[in-house]
Parts: sequence; structure tokens; C-alpha cells
Amino acid sequence: LNPENTNLSNEDLDVEKKLRPLSFEDFAGQDQAIDNLKIFVEAANQRGEALDHTLFHGPPGLGKTTLAHILANELQVGIKVTSGPVLDKPGDLAGLLTNLDERDVLFIDEIHRLSPIVEEYLYSAMEDYKIDIMIESGPNARTVQINLEPFTLIGATTRSGLLTAPMRARFGISSRLHYYTTELLTTIIQRSSHILGVPISMEAAIEIAGRSRGTPRIANALLRRVRDFAQIKGDGNISIEIAKYALKALNVDAHGLDEMDNKILATIIDKFKGGPVGLSTIATAVSENTETIEEVYEPFLIQQGFIMRTPRGREVTELAYTHLGRVKGRNQGE
Ligand code: ATP
Repeated sequence: LNPENTNLSNEDLDVEKKLRPLSFEDFAGQDQAIDNLKIFVEAANQRGEALDHTLFHGPPGLGKTTLAHILANELQVGIKVTSGPVLDKPGDLAGLLTNLDERDVLFIDEIHRLSPIVEEYLYSAMEDYKIDIMIESGPNARTVQINLEPFTLIGATTRSGLLTAPMRARFGISSRLHYYTTELLTTIIQRSSHILGVPISMEAAIEIAGRSRGTPRIANALLRRVRDFAQIKGDGNISIEIAKYALKALNVDAHGLDEMDNKILATIIDKFKGGPVGLSTIATAVSENTETIEEVYEPFLIQQGFIMRTPRGREVTELAYTHLGRVKGRNQGE
């Protein structure tokens, strides 16, 4: 249940689509971002203009793609979806851009992974709704400028730190998504169960929510797996007993931490006596890059109270020792 896991089966993809909120109304949480977006959308709709280019950043699975679709719905325009690594030639981008209707949304996921050439190409499209394209080749080769319809680029990134400054500057709206509380995830799980037609008790919804790493995608994925247990081992209803049984069988961590979360905590305890230790040292020790630790893993560990940021580096808390069943003060490496 890695939040970045994209190896979803076809069935999972279909269900994921079904569970995706389609309007601001259906979307739970992220209140501040949503309140602002509602204003920007309404204003753009009133003026009949394209919404300003919008950047969503935050850890995986918190609803960036969902929000891009919601914005297109609320703007009553079409949306074309692509991602940074897929767009490797300026020609691919030109094809997408020239096919956009007025005010349409172009959604680029993982926008920090655009190649520099494509990125540069995107600048003039974003700024002046114009692109230069090469026609013919050899001695007749020349560039012609093409006017585009005014459009909205929506970019999503888990790693805003990796976005170049010129790229970032071209987004008029920038919104950071935060981890969800157990309460909000409970609401999301209840809504999803309703759509899937599976009865679930309040207690069971809270239990699953608390183990979902603050992430709606994980909450929905766990719900689907627990549903299988309820169907085969129970009477189809998700009771607290079935939920606990299934989560145990699925080996889901009590706090919803994933493998890397636990590896980071164990490393700080075992190799650095609980800290303080610098971020890049931790990154090297767990063989992950510093930005990923800082933007994908650390925020959740801090929010949940497993790690503290101190002037001298990162330190684990009492909670981390208890969670891993370690005793503070005893050097585990010895
Ligand atoms: P990534 O960047 O990794 O693609 P993401 O942030 O774009 O992740 P989404 O694909 O938008 O995440 O969301 C994952 C799933 O979580 C969606 O299928 C959707 O059903 C659900 N979801 C996300 N946010 C919410 C929300 N606020 N309310 C209800 N469901 C949500």
C-alpha cells in the first residue's frame, strides 16, 4: 500500500474512478484551498476568462488529480490529461495545446519531471498563448507561430522543491494540499462505502481511517480490501471485528505508516541514537533522496508526532520508540 503505488489492477482503476469526487461539494477537506479555488473559479466564470494557471503540490494520493477534474467541471470546460515523463518532445506538447478549446484545462501530473526543452516551450504557451512550431525539414525548415486558445494549465507535483523558479513563477495560483485527519478520512470512507454499496459501521470506518496514512487514496484502497474480507469471511457488512481482522491479515501498520516511514524511524533510533541528525544524513542512510524524504515522508511523520524538527536536525519522539517497540537510551546497534 505504498502511496505512490501505481500498479493498480483494472478493477481498482475502475473503482477509483467511481469513487472520485466530481464537484467541490463532494470533495472533503482542504478547506482553505477549496474556499479560495471557489472564488477564483467563480470570478473566471463571471468574466468568461480562462482560470489562471494553477499548481497543486503535496504528497501523493491527496487529491491533486481529483481537483484538476473538479476544476474543469466547475469551469464547465474540457480537460486533457498528461504527465511530465510522458511529454518528452515539444511536438507532443504542441499537439495537445493546439487541440485545446477556449478555457479548457490541460493537466500535467508530475510537472517537475518535464524535460527542460518541453518546459521552455511551455513558457510562451502559458504566458502569451502562443507557440512556435517547426514545419518542414532540411533547407525549407522554418518556424511558424501559432496562436492558442486561452487555456488553464494545471500542474501537479509531489516535489515543489524540484520545480524551476521560472516555471513556478508562471502559476498565478498555487495550492498546497495537506494530510487528512482521521475524521475527514472517516467521512471519505463512509462516502466510498455508500457508492460501493457496502454497509460499514462507524467504528470500522474510524479504524480504517486511522490506518490510512492521512491519505484518501490509501483509505479507499484499504476499504476495497476490507470489503473482500467482509464478503468472504463475514456477511458482507464491514463491522469493527471484520475490519480489525482484515487489517491484521493485510499487515497494515497500526498508524498506517509504510515501509519507508518505519525505515526512517528505525534508522534514526538505531544508527543515530534517536537524533538529532541532519536530513541529508538520514537520506543517505535509507538510500532515498533528500527532497523525497523532506516532501513525501517527513511531513506525515511530523504531523503524527513521530519526529520533531530541531535546530540541530531531526529527532524521534517517545511515540516512535513505542511504535517500534524499542527502549529509549539503549543503543540498538550494540
Ligand atoms: P497523485 O499525484 O499521486 O496522482 P493525487 O494527489 O492526484 O495523487 P488523486 O488521484 O486525486 O490523488 O486521489 C486519489 C483518490 O483519492 C481518488 O480516487 C479519490 O477518490 C480519492 N480522494 C482524494 N481526495 C479526496 C477527497 N478530498 N474526498 C474524497 N475522495 C478523495
